[in-house]
Amino acid sequence: MEQVVTLKLKLYEPTQAKREMYQLMADRCTDFANRYLSLDKKERPRTSGEAKKYSEPLPSAVLNQAIRDIKAKPKAKRFKHLWPAFSNQNFRVEREVTRDGGAVWKASFPTLEKRVGVPIVVQPYQEKYLEMLLSGRAKQGSARLVRRGKDWYVHLSLTVPVEEKRGGKVMGVDLGMIDLLVASVSGQTLFFSGDELVYVRRHYAQLRKKLQKAGAYRALKRLGDKEHRWVTDVNHKVSRMLVDFAIIHGVTKIRLEDLTGARWAHPQRREQRKDHGRSLQYWPYYQLRQFIEYKAVLAGIRVELVNPDLTTLTCSRCGEVIRTRPKGRWFRCPRCRRVKHVDVNAADNIAQAVSGLAA
Ligand SMILES: [Zn+2]
Repeated sequence: MEQVVTLKLKLYEPTQAKREMYQLMADRCTDFANRYLSLDKKERPRTSGEAKKYSEPLPSAVLNQAIRDIKAKPKAKRFKHLWPAFSNQNFRVEREVTRDGGAVWKASFPTLEKRVGVPIVVQPYQEKYLEMLLSGRAKQGSARLVRRGKDWYVHLSLTVPVEEKRGGKVMGVDLGMIDLLVASVSGQTLFFSGDELVYVRRHYAQLRKKLQKAGAYRALKRLGDKEHRWVTDVNHKVSRMLVDFAIIHGVTKIRLEDLTGARWAHPQRREQRKDHGRSLQYWPYYQLRQFIEYKAVLAGIRVELVNPDLTTLTCSRCGEVIRTRPKGRWFRCPRCRRVKHVDVNAADNIAQAVSGLAA
């Protein structure tokens, strides 16, 4: 199996001169695209040589790729942006080892002046993909130079092989009410505390109330968008760390609670509005689960859903089932007397798939 991933690699502190040059390339690229569309079909250039007549100076490699990009969108009437892109022959990622043994990642591509080799910021999870690229296990697609706000990025697409592994460890993941998420695999635990998230959510809820009272609807919409972006960002980071944790521990299967049921009410319901961000009850766990699944598959890890009903009520050591959900952070077993964090206990149960967890 193969899957295409797009790595968004930030250019590390480009100089003012470089930023201006990238912008100029982007503007010329967009202008060329719109000029191309304005031409009669028969007149449209097919090669970079022909394209030069219709464009301010741009590297041939960029013009070639621009023609491909425009053709890939046959319905386009006008381009707001056509970001400069490079084929796999014109764009290269390199790793340089520094004197202290560290690594600096660089991207090289043609520009208006000459070919540049510029440092890029590589996140730990992206490093794995770039290493696959350098070792020839991943195939490079096109790379696109994109501005977001003041920052410049390279969006690099890669085709990576995905293999399903067998016979490794199972990791249980509990989506908690106290902690956002607790993962457990052979006695090792990974926590994402919910305290800070509840704090931020409450802050948003208070602001929302004020804006509602003032009837400031446009500001309300902006606030909603901002909160939404924050939540998505948290879910991305958490799922990334979770899957990395699984990879490090040789996990081949992640067991997650199935999120259907009353607890996972629809986020637009009235109860949520009444909740005022006080708990994690209405956290978008569904999105989080999707992110986990997507990232796990890339790492060759299977995701399985389990019935959550008994996971918090069962002692993960002796199997005793208690009647009411433990209050607070600790699961105290009336039979074997063990005291364990409720969400860790639940994650252990999920990993072991005890208590009738057939999903
Ligand atoms: Zn027990």
